[in-house]
Amino acid sequence: MRRAVVVGGGILGTWHAVELCRAGFAVQHLEADAGPTGASVRNFGLVWVSGRRSGDELDAALRSRRRWEEIGASAPGIGFRPNGSLTVAGTDGERKVMEEFGGRADASERSITFLEPDEVVARNPAVRGDVTGGLYCSLDAVIEPRRALGALRGYLAGRSYEFHPGRRVVELSERAVVDAGGTRWDGDLVVVTTGASFDHLPGTEKVAAGLRRVRLQMLETEPFARPLTTSLADADSLRYYPAYEVVPLDPLGAQSPLAAAHHLQLLMVQRPDGGLTIGDTHAYGEPFDFALSEDPTLELLDRVGRLLGTAPPPVSRRWEGVYAQCIDGRVCAREELSPGVWMVTGPGGRGMTCAPAIAADTLRAAGVGA
Ligand SMILES: Cc1cc2nc3c(=O)[nH]c(=O)nc-3n(C[C@H](O)[C@H](O)[C@H](O)COP(=O)(O)OP(=O)(O)OC[C@H]3O[C@@H](n4cnc5c(N)ncnc54)[C@H](O)[C@@H]3O)c2cc1C
Repeated sequence: MRRAVVVGGGILGTWHAVELCRAGFAVQHLEADAGPTGASVRNFGLVWVSGRRSGDELDAALRSRRRWEEIGASAPGIGFRPNGSLTVAGTDGERKVMEEFGGRADASERSITFLEPDEVVARNPAVRGDVTGGLYCSLDAVIEPRRALGALRGYLAGRSYEFHPGRRVVELSERAVVDAGGTRWDGDLVVVTTGASFDHLPGTEKVAAGLRRVRLQMLETEPFARPLTTSLADADSLRYYPAYEVVPLDPLGAQSPLAAAHHLQLLMVQRPDGGLTIGDTHAYGEPFDFALSEDPTLELLDRVGRLLGTAPPPVSRRWEGVYAQCIDGRVCAREELSPGVWMVTGPGGRGMTCAPAIAADTLRAAGVGA
């Protein structure tokens, strides 16, 4: 049986383990920490097809969406829900941009339709604020980020798969890695998915030169009494998601100084217990602030209140997360560092969405895939 070693227990590493097992490999999966606590457990869990750029990025998102749904049926612990999303307009300018986008072929490619205000409320009755229209994407979905990794590992039970937490890799060599305890792990194929720690290992300098780290702030509330039937976004998200580059964004007007300073947009997902995961901000300059700042948090909560027409429940948790992103807009960085050793990282804010396709593409690039 062919052997593979996967380094990094986040969503990229875990999906590579799934695909390698499917391709008939015996997989040793190494994670530095006692359990994964990186970007993959800190995100919204959005399988966000709507905002993806046409071409490779949208293709990866659509393929991944199918795989998430398939595996979600066999591994219900992932919490896959095809709940769709609404991006809500609150001004005439925001409506204008969305209406224009909704009339293009780009919209139907992503199963996006423009909705009138009454249709927005019919689609998600929790929306009670001033609404001038919205974009509905029926393909957007959600998974439970704090449960998905464990559920995927559970799905591999009974296969030739072993997960080894507490194994920090410190050296890469031909078709092998060495961990901090001195143990050498050999494989016909090695896949290194160390997330934002992309520059911590010798030999990764070339890949690292094309990447940057991005820091986000997030929060979660206590359960909200009403169900959110879709994920929600506000019109500031049109500024950040590349799908919308095809229409003029000027009617959105200038972003507020606070939102611009924090590269802020509102995204919101309701968890199965009713809690609301709310974000986010983006910081690009290192060193990042070690503290969570309150101003953007208050701004996000204010936006939630206006959208739902009522104050959100008390905040129960706040956190930050850091992801790695390709500077040149590629879906991810994928390089063979030495024979049989591939590094895959840098999916940016779409890693949870696109991990299944990214993993399948690595197997193809390494010549072992379907
Ligand atoms: C706040 C936030 C919100 C986001 N929201 C979304 C979203 O809703 N939808 C979406 O599609 N994407 C989202 N993203 C992006 C997505 O979370 C990331 O792209 C994705 O999780 C990256 O996965 P990863 O496996 O590469 O990295 P990580 O999850 O960071 O995993 C890397 C793992 O490698 C381990 N590791 C590092 N070095 C070593 C070593 N030397 N040896 C062994 N193990 C090592 C780490 O401990 C870690 O567990 C969000 C990101 C953030 C931060």
